[in-house]
Amino acid sequence: MDRKPRTRREVLRAAGVLTGGAALAQLGVPAIGTARSAITLASLERRLGGTLIEPGDATYGSAAALWNTRLSINPRAIAFCQSVSDVREVIRFARERGWPISARSGRHSFEGYSNASGIVCDVSQMNGVRFDRAHGTVTVGPGNNVLSIFNNVILGAGRGILNGSCPTVGIAGLALGGGLSRGLRQHGTLVDDMLEASVVLPDGRYVRASAKHRPELFWALRGGGGGNFGVVTSFTFRTHSTPDPFVFGMTFDWSKAAEMYAAWQTLAPAAPQTLASCSLRMTRTPPTSGNGPYVLKASIGGLWNGTQAELEDLLAPLTALGPASSSIEKTTYAEAWHPDGCTIGPGGSLTCKPAVLYPNYQRSDFFTEPMPAAGIDELIAQVENWPGGPGSDEGGVQIEALGPGSKSNAVAPGATAFVHRSTLYHTVYLNFWGEPASEAANVAWADDIYAAMRPYASGQAYQNYIDAGLESWRSAYYGSNWKRLQRVKRAYDPQNLLSFAQGITPGR
Ligand SMILES: Cc1cc2nc3c(=O)[nH]c(=O)nc-3n(C[C@H](O)[C@H](O)[C@H](O)COP(=O)(O)OP(=O)(O)OC[C@H]3O[C@@H](n4cnc5c(N)ncnc54)[C@H](O)[C@@H]3O)c2cc1C
Repeated sequence: MDRKPRTRREVLRAAGVLTGGAALAQLGVPAIGTARSAITLASLERRLGGTLIEPGDATYGSAAALWNTRLSINPRAIAFCQSVSDVREVIRFARERGWPISARSGRHSFEGYSNASGIVCDVSQMNGVRFDRAHGTVTVGPGNNVLSIFNNVILGAGRGILNGSCPTVGIAGLALGGGLSRGLRQHGTLVDDMLEASVVLPDGRYVRASAKHRPELFWALRGGGGGNFGVVTSFTFRTHSTPDPFVFGMTFDWSKAAEMYAAWQTLAPAAPQTLASCSLRMTRTPPTSGNGPYVLKASIGGLWNGTQAELEDLLAPLTALGPASSSIEKTTYAEAWHPDGCTIGPGGSLTCKPAVLYPNYQRSDFFTEPMPAAGIDELIAQVENWPGGPGSDEGGVQIEALGPGSKSNAVAPGATAFVHRSTLYHTVYLNFWGEPASEAANVAWADDIYAAMRPYASGQAYQNYIDAGLESWRSAYYGSNWKRLQRVKRAYDPQNLLSFAQGITPGR
């Protein structure tokens, strides 16, 4: 069984990160703060248009901070690039000195793989957006995130794009590993809408990748996962029209969770593509006040682009279970797609709550077969066991329907590097706790629920929900595409300059 490394040191080792003077000496580079290191970095800083942050700088703490507060990975330097030229300088610097290097956009890697121990090539300030209205495409810098894409593309230009739902997720990591959105069943993954990418390669060349230019690289960038083949400096995506959808949701008493799951997994994956997305959530959350009991919640929700009568027909088996609440509402595309935690005000401007970050450890599964009753009962029992602890947020499962009726499954597994094309649904085991003292119990829970699902899950996992505890990650993320990805890696990064614990290695 795959086990999650338990100690911080083990976690850092699994991430390929070694910190401290002794560890840096093992890497063959001088320790942070030595005179030689300072001189070396000064030579880079002089050539950058952007800024270079080092340990000891006032902003180093925030520059090194990651979305997952379980992780603390302290690079020797963080370069905030403003141009392709900056990216080339940072790559050249790392290549010539043998420093570990990583690309970084939104910092949401579940395992912090965008913070290399050497130098971080941060592209978050490269956030331009340019429309080509004649072709219905948009070209965006890798520094955009879900929020800025929503503001610029959906609100600003009135065009749809297969954006994620968390406002601070970076477009680069999202697009390179797949991109599951509220349009997943209707339009496929974000990878399926990628038309071109500009990339600075590990050897310093700046190239285009598209169906015409370097098609093998383009194939690998569409699902091969972030941080493997070069630093992407722009993406061009297809955009969509923005019809007003129906937004629907139902909540159920916890005693009906098993029936809800059984009905949902029968109807959602088999639905036509007019069911643009449909998710199921079963969660355990701390009491809202005082010492009350934890709360168990079961719900479904999604977007529908057909008629209300058709939607009511589709949902009839769930309605027959007697939901505690139920709603179907016709709304605007922008209302239906706005990022989580944000609201659109009367003037059309977006207001978002400040993000609250929690330490977390989440695992994921793709399911290709319906879950039998015994599996559903086991899953529910596991959700009921989520330990949480003081200051925790929630634990449980969030499941996104795909299925034979979905656009994503209509794409061949080898057409892009995103191999997961015959799935019924994708599941993430949510797990956000509060205090360091709760870590061991919550990490153990994630391992337990993951182990309990082995008899039922496909063995595939989402490369964008990257999981350091997954030993079989090569086959889980890439399946039959693994060897081809290794050949692309050999062609574009034979020295494995861009490497991390679950990075693609050069091969034949
Ligand atoms: C709260 C939350 C919500 C999420 N919601 C969704 C969702 O709705 N749909 C979905 O599909 N996924 C979702 N994800 C997963 C998300 O897509 C991945 O975590 C993604 O890798 C994050 O990208 P990033 O740029 O923010 O992260 P980073 O940590 O900056 O980067 C992630 C990986 O990409 C590499 N990378 C970053 N920038 C570049 C670049 N310019 N060129 C090459 N490589 C690069 C990094 O080296 C790293 O390996 C979510 C994650 C979180 C934490």
